[in-house]
Amino acid sequence: MKYLIAGNWKMNKSTAEAEDLVKTIHETIGLTTSVSIAICPPFTCLDRLSRLLDELNSNIQLGAQNIHPEPSGAYTGEISAGMLREFFCSYVILGHSERRQHFGETDAFINQKVHAAQTLKLKPILCVGESIEQREAGQTLSVIEQQLKDGLQNIELSHADDLVIAYEPVWAIGTGKTATPEMAQEVHAFIHNWLEERFDATLADKIRLLYGGSMKPNNAKDLLAQPNIHGGLIGGASLEADSFSELVKIAEQAMD
Ligand code: PEP
Repeated sequence: MKYLIAGNWKMNKSTAEAEDLVKTIHETIGLTTSVSIAICPPFTCLDRLSRLLDELNSNIQLGAQNIHPEPSGAYTGEISAGMLREFFCSYVILGHSERRQHFGETDAFINQKVHAAQTLKLKPILCVGESIEQREAGQTLSVIEQQLKDGLQNIELSHADDLVIAYEPVWAIGTGKTATPEMAQEVHAFIHNWLEERFDATLADKIRLLYGGSMKPNNAKDLLAQPNIHGGLIGGASLEADSFSELVKIAEQAMD
């Protein structure tokens, strides 16, 4: 399985800062890596970065952090999947907990976005995860199951590469608290088994399951050594070239 290290820049970086960051990452990582790499900057950086990545002949792929399910229309402030294709985006993060929390996104709405992404051949990175209250109440696996069931309603897959799932415990995002490798593996194994039943075993074996939540160079090795963890969705540590490049290197070694 080719691991994926994806950076979620959230609402950070001007276009000039974004260019500098990508150039430095590119210099550090070089052209060849056995790991898939994606960066998901704000929409405003996509045009400039897609040109830059092309000029550099880089194999860093571009992603976005959200879409609206409709292809066009009276949705002020929104961006469609087709608009992202213009900038050669490969991925889109959907159902991030910050969107669920601050923008009231429901699983049903997220499901519409997954369909829209699939139609336009954008690979969704579907985020699922429990809050601290849900974990303490012993509801973690049932919460994840519901998010998967509703988020992937009526989704069919012909290729395992067309879907990525990110397990991101809400209490670990941007807090410096990371799930222990064992805690993360328990949920990842559950997701893998669920996908096996929902799709089929051959497909499920190839769907990449990322861990996200304060993943940093000092904790990534143990997380990426878990059998059902195939990469990371990285917030804070993706904003610095050193830590992001280091995570790519750690993922390369974990794949060996
Ligand atoms: C995220 O926002 O997807 C994330 C994992 O953030 P952080 O790495 O900062 O916890």
